[in-house]
Amino acid sequence: RILKRQMLCRNDIDRLNAPFLAIYDSLIPPEEEKVKQKQLLKLLEKLVCKEWPKARLYLYGSCANSFGVSKSDIDVCLAIEDADINKSEILLRLADILKSDNLQNVQALTRARVPIVKLMDPVTGISCDICINNILAVINTKLLRDYAQIDARLRQLAFIVKHWAKSRGVNETYQGTLSSYAYVLMCIHFLQQRRPAILPCLQEMETTYSATVDDIECAFFDQVEVLRNFGSCNKETISQLVWAFFNYWAYRHDYANSVISVRTGSILSKHAKDWTRRIGNDRHLICIEDPFQTSHDLGRVVDKHSIKVLREEFERAAYIMQYDPNPCVKLFEPY
Ligand code: ATP
Ligand code: MG
Repeated sequence: RILKRQMLCRNDIDRLNAPFLAIYDSLIPPEEEKVKQKQLLKLLEKLVCKEWPKARLYLYGSCANSFGVSKSDIDVCLAIEDADINKSEILLRLADILKSDNLQNVQALTRARVPIVKLMDPVTGISCDICINNILAVINTKLLRDYAQIDARLRQLAFIVKHWAKSRGVNETYQGTLSSYAYVLMCIHFLQQRRPAILPCLQEMETTYSATVDDIECAFFDQVEVLRNFGSCNKETISQLVWAFFNYWAYRHDYANSVISVRTGSILSKHAKDWTRRIGNDRHLICIEDPFQTSHDLGRVVDKHSIKVLREEFERAAYIMQYDPNPCVKLFEPY
């Protein structure tokens, strides 16, 4: 009985604040990593421009959206404006060029869902994936980066959630769990929903940035410097937010009926999006609307088995934060 009483002794969530901030600090990439990334990008630009003078390179993904932890690979998009390009041919040609410049482990994956060339730069030690004309990814990278500048708690929450997801093996899309991109959207949506709100909905505000890509209009407010105080009425600390995030996904989210939508800053119904039944491989067991490709559910990779794994992990995390004597270790324990 004594053991049981000890086990169920509730943690003071606020005592987790300093340790969480320490974990966050330890994950931030040091400045020299950024310098090396820029150095590699410069080299790639030089090689690409020799072959395709009008092409441009953009960083996207976690190296550019400000949610990248230390030692991440970098994602690069090669933008070529040519009406009838053959992506496979370009990727194969690019692979040849990179190999002859002594870049290592060069591989063209022309049949992947997103075709890429992979490489490793022996000088900086950085690995890199290059895709072609994935402009929407460059724009959603900007949206995420802009959100991160509004309130520091977004970056802190997302780092902790990504670190947890990687440690617990639930950041593996090919095994039916969620991408880093999906987790960051879950964090943004969660902070849009706090009362008072910690984040606004940039796509519902006046348009100061717009681009049209593949007939999709991407428009949002990007003068985020003026929003620096947006969340200041909400005094929740990072430990309270991490706990509430896990508690939301463990016990409060209505998996049967709800879609989370960063685009509208609200919850939409599965019914309205016609995401109520399985179509092909899209099962819609956890629904996360892409902010620009609105017919795209980032939860579509989740299946009957992995939804169970995910929900049990959310419950485990919520439980540990409330009752475990050593939550900052236990939460991130390898699975
Ligand atoms: P990590 O630190 O794990 O590498 P990441 O932010 O690079 O995280 P990924 O999931 O590898 O995240 O995705 C890289 C980028 O590709 C994302 O930032 C996003 O711009 C884009 N992306 C990834 N998945 C999708 C998707 N399903 N739909 C649209 N864009 C996506
Ligand atoms: Mg990445």
